This record gives sequence, C-alpha cells and structure tokens, in this order.
Amino acid sequence: MHSHTLLETDTLHDTTAHHASRSVAVIGGSAAGFFTANLLAKRGLPVRVIERIESLEPAERTLIVTHRMRSLLGRTADGCILNEIRRFELFTDGRAATVPLKHPDLIIERRKLIQGLAAEAGQSGAKIELGTRFHSVHPNGRGLVVEIERCAGGGREELHADVVVGGDGAASRVARSTGWAPLKTVPLMQAIVPLPKDMSPDTVRVWFVPQDTPYFYWLIPESSTRGALGVIGESGPETKRSLELFLQKRKLDALDFQGARIPVYSRWVPVQRRLGNGSVYLVGDAAAQVKVSTVGGIVTGLRGALGVAEAILTGGPSRELRSLRRELNFHLLLRRSMHHFQQSDYSHLVDLLNASARQSLSEHDRDEAWKILWRVCVQQPKLVLLGLRGLLMNRPSRRAAE
Ligand SMILES: Cc1cc2nc3c(=O)[nH]c(=O)nc-3n(C[C@H](O)[C@H](O)[C@H](O)COP(=O)(O)OP(=O)(O)OC[C@H]3O[C@@H](n4cnc5c(N)ncnc54)[C@H](O)[C@@H]3O)c2cc1C
Repeated sequence: MHSHTLLETDTLHDTTAHHASRSVAVIGGSAAGFFTANLLAKRGLPVRVIERIESLEPAERTLIVTHRMRSLLGRTADGCILNEIRRFELFTDGRAATVPLKHPDLIIERRKLIQGLAAEAGQSGAKIELGTRFHSVHPNGRGLVVEIERCAGGGREELHADVVVGGDGAASRVARSTGWAPLKTVPLMQAIVPLPKDMSPDTVRVWFVPQDTPYFYWLIPESSTRGALGVIGESGPETKRSLELFLQKRKLDALDFQGARIPVYSRWVPVQRRLGNGSVYLVGDAAAQVKVSTVGGIVTGLRGALGVAEAILTGGPSRELRSLRRELNFHLLLRRSMHHFQQSDYSHLVDLLNASARQSLSEHDRDEAWKILWRVCVQQPKLVLLGLRGLLMNRPSRRAAE
C-alpha cells in the first residue's frame, strides 16, 4: 500500500522529528485506536491510549474482511485469522449466483485482532491505560487538557496532550464534545450457529430479502463446524425478530449472539478540528469510516487510522484519506442505488450476474469496488441501469439511506 510505505520511508524522518515532542492521547483502545497509536509511537511520538474497559477482553465478534487487512497489518494480522473465503453464493427468491474471489477474504476474530494491535502498540512505546474513561477536552495556552475518569472509583484527572485522536466508536464522546454532529447508526446482529451440512467452509452465503431488510442476511463460516449468521436492519427490535425468524426457517440453533450499532456513512466526515493550539482527529467508526454497502468497518477504519497518522506526522493532507474518501463515497452510491430494490430488482440482479460479470467481480477484491463497477459497466450495462433506477427511486427519500 503506497501510503503505508510512505509512512515508513526515511523522507518523513525530519518532519517526524519536528513533531516528536507533540504528545498524543488516543481515546478508545480498539482496532482503529490501537493501530493509530502504534503508527505514531513507532515514529517516536509520546502516545497514551485511554480505554474504558478494564481488561483487554473486548467483545468477541466474527468478522469478514478483505485480504487488504494483511497488507495493512503484516504479521499482526496472522494471530486473528480463523478462516479464508474463496467464493460468495448470492440467493434471492429461489435464484442463486456464485461469485468466486480472486483473493480470498479473511474471517477474523475481533478480540484477537484488538489484542494483537494492543501488543504491537505497547511494543512501539504507547502507554495503554485501561479502565479509564474519556470525559472531555478543552484548550489551554499550552495545548489540550483531557479530562479522564478512572473507572474503579479513582476519580477525575486531567492530562496534557497536543493532539487527541478519537477512536471511541459510533457514539464517540470525543466527537460530541468537540462539535462534530452525531452519526446515524443501524443495528447489526449475528448468531453463532453450527455450520449447515450442505455448506462449504470456504463459501459465504448472502440472502437478499427486501421485505425484511434493505440490506441482507449473511452466513460466514469461521471453521468447518461453526459460522456467524447475521443481518443488518433499521430498528433494533425488528432486526432481532428478523434474525430469530430467519434462524427458525433454516432450522439453526443460535449458540451465541453478537451485536452492536454501527454508523451509517452518509457523507465524508472531516477528520480534523483545531481546538486552541491543539488538534482533534477522528478514526474508525467515530468518523463513520464504514462501507455503507456491506457495513464493513475494519479495513476502512484501519485505513482511516493510517491516514490520520500520516496527517499528524506530516502536518499536511493525507493521500490515504483522499483515497479512503473516494472508496466510501463509491459505497454510498452503491447503497443509495440498492436501498429501495424490490424483490424483482434483486431477482434481476442475480440473473444478470452471468459468467462475464462474475469474472469481473472476482478479478478484484471487494474493497476495490470502483474498479469492479467500471468492469461491470463495460460488460453489463443493464446492471448500471438497474442501479440508476434505484438512485432515481431514492431521490425523494434520500434520507432513508442516511
Ligand atoms: C456484530 C457485528 C458484526 C460486524 N461485522 C463486520 C464485518 O464482518 N466486517 C467488518 O469489516 N466490520 C464489521 N463490523 C463493524 C466493525 O466491527 C467496526 O466497524 C469496527 O470494529 C470499529 O472499530 P473502531 O476501532 O473504530 O471502534 P470500536 O471497535 O467501536 O471501539 C471503540 C472503543 O472505544 C472505547 N470507548 C468508547 N467510549 C470511550 C470513552 N468515553 N473513554 C474511553 N474509551 C471509550 C470502547 O470501549 C471501544 O474499545 C461488525 C460490527 C458488528 C457489531
């Protein structure tokens, strides 16, 4: 990844030396926060990570990411990979299409990913403070005063930072307390289930059921015996009910449930604000760095972290953030075009995924979606018409996708 390489080149050394005395408080010790902390600490900046949970045992979640995670994280990625996916099967109304992937997608375990990133940040010199809740931030003559609260009855404390990075998720308190607008969120729920006997562990299944959700259901195998069956909805109770009914229909018993609200990307969220003599940045879910077509936020959150680290170190614009913005906007276009698809549109879509379109989908990984669209346009103009119809239908009620 060119920007990753940029961060590691010696040409940045002088600029970094210029910033070396700037202290950084990263709020939120999860994927985006720890990755930012590691990149900055590795460059010699004094970094503290403020995380409210008391031990490094964040909620378990089975996630699917593109192979790009490997190039972003290198060996750190290895510790959290459970399985590799080589094809997608798409179902709607009795129809099916198979999409092979050129580069396998990865099934990962969130807790292990976070633990690996925390260990790396610690080795690079970041100070990790668990059981500590961010409360507020305000400027003083020297920089920023960060007010924190020790969770185990330790009371409030103030600490100094020149830069605050909010990696504190969809309901980011850093963003709210420094003037960013709240983000719209949607519920995402998954059930851990025994893998159905007719299912191969290298294949993900996706079902489009527009009467239940404008998004989709999925089943991702984490091993040859278990998988995560999930759905994205619009309201919490309805999403839970849809998931339960879907499980019943497929005669699957949930072994466990995982869920949380995730932000809906509706426009680019500027990642930086000046506060007196200091700066505040947002990374990951806090900045809605989530692909709104598939609601995946790990790789895009890591890219956001990389871009913000680049911006802090160089004091200038970041190429990674520019490219991330293009990617997120493209996924927004896809979501807006599909958000009001009816059953007949999905049936048409699956029918249209003929051999040539499938090939063009599999020649890229899922994160390079703009290239996919270009190839599909060239080979399947009808798909584009379908998308345009969705966009036009969406126009009067655009807010539905926001
Ligand atoms: C069930 C489910 C399945 C998903 N599946 C996928 C998937 O398959 N692929 C994919 O790419 N993405 C998936 N996502 C989305 C993905 O998990 C998120 O986009 C990603 O984890 C966001 O990471 P983050 O580091 O930005 O924020 P978070 O992981 O939300 O971390 C925020 C951190 O900040 C801490 N914090 C919050 N407030 C404070 C405070 N005041 N003080 C101190 N600390 C604070 C929290 O404790 C937490 O550790 C899924 C989400 C869910 C809920």
